[in-house]
Order: sequence, then C-alpha cells, then structure tokens
Amino acid sequence: MPVLAHVGLGSNLEGPRHQIERALGALARLADSRLLGSSSLYASAPMGPADQPDYLNAVAALETSLAPLDLLDALQAIEQIQGRLRGRRWGPRTIDLDLLLYGNRQIDLPRLQVPHPGIGQRSFVLAPLVEIAADIDIPGQGRACDLLAACNDPSLRRLAPSIQI
Ligand code: ATP
Ligand code: CA
Ligand code: CA
Repeated sequence: MPVLAHVGLGSNLEGPRHQIERALGALARLADSRLLGSSSLYASAPMGPADQPDYLNAVAALETSLAPLDLLDALQAIEQIQGRLRGRRWGPRTIDLDLLLYGNRQIDLPRLQVPHPGIGQRSFVLAPLVEIAADIDIPGQGRACDLLAACNDPSLRRLAPSIQI
C-alpha cells in the first residue's frame, strides 16, 4: 500500500530557489512514487551558526511505495547529485532533504528517525507543512498547526510564488 510521506527541503547556497526547484524535479521523477504537491517557499534566518546566508525551505508531499530506508537513500542520492557537502553541524548547504513524516509511522533506527527530530520546534518546517496539510498530525506530538502556533520565529516569511514563463 502506498504511503503519504512529507519531505522537507532546505537550501542556503548556490541559488537556493533553483536548488529547491531542482530537488522538486528530482522528487517528481522518484521511482515508485508520485509527487502530490509542494508548499510555497519560506525564508528564515539560519538555525545554528549565524555566519551563513538565510535559508529557503519548502515541504513536498509524496505518495510512495518505497520503504522508509529506500526513500532516505533516494533523498540522500539527490543531495549528492546537487553537491551537498557535509561540514560543520547545521552549516550551509546546497540542498537538505529531510524525511519529515512517513504516514503515521514512528521509526527509530540509527540512520532514520521519523517523525524527523526537531520537526515540532521548527517553524520553517511546520509553516510549509501546515500550508499543504492543514490538519496533519505529527505522531506522538499532536497537530502540526498547534505545534506551529507554539513556535515563534520572527524571521520566517513566506515568499510570493515565482512567475513561471
Ligand atoms: P537536522 O537533522 O537537525 O535537520 P541536518 O539536516 O543538517 O540536521 P544531516 O547532516 O542532513 O543533518 O543528516 C544527518 C543524518 O541524519 C543523516 O545521515 C541521516 O542518516 C540522519 N537522519 C535521521 N533521521 C532522518 C530523517 N528523518 N530524514 C533525513 N535524515 C535523517
Ligand atoms: Ca535538516
Ligand atoms: Ca538532513
């Protein structure tokens, strides 16, 4: 049975808008999966080291038959193709793809925790998630919209959609 999964996208290097659009294109071509939709882009100040550019974030909804670890492998392959280098923790990156939710599953493996750790405290994840899935529940934590209401990130702003020509 296919599962509804949500993926968080983030970038703050080498044309963040382009990086996120490119990753969405890769998600649209993912095996055994269908891209159902994606949120607007959201800009925010960096989490962690402050000496790096602001981030752009978005959330995508996928219907997938991939098992959770196979989906994680696919997300990490897209990161590699887009030149993700791993430096300091929460340092700048061309693209970051986090598996936020995999249906209502809770997963705790060395390589994969779902819901993604931190989801409940991050407005730059919760705001785009609630935009495309208003009533969604974060297993073990409650409704995403309630968690979002309890977060406050004054730097977060939703960007107007880019004009497609
Ligand atoms: P954060 O996870 O706090 O958002 P980050 O995205 O910068 O930080 P990464 O360096 O991209 O962290 O990932 C570190 C490791 O997290 C990955 O190698 C992966 O195995 C693990 N990981 C655990 N759970 C998940 C998940 N739900 N989605 C993506 N990676 C995960
Ligand atoms: Ca992340
Ligand atoms: Ca990550």
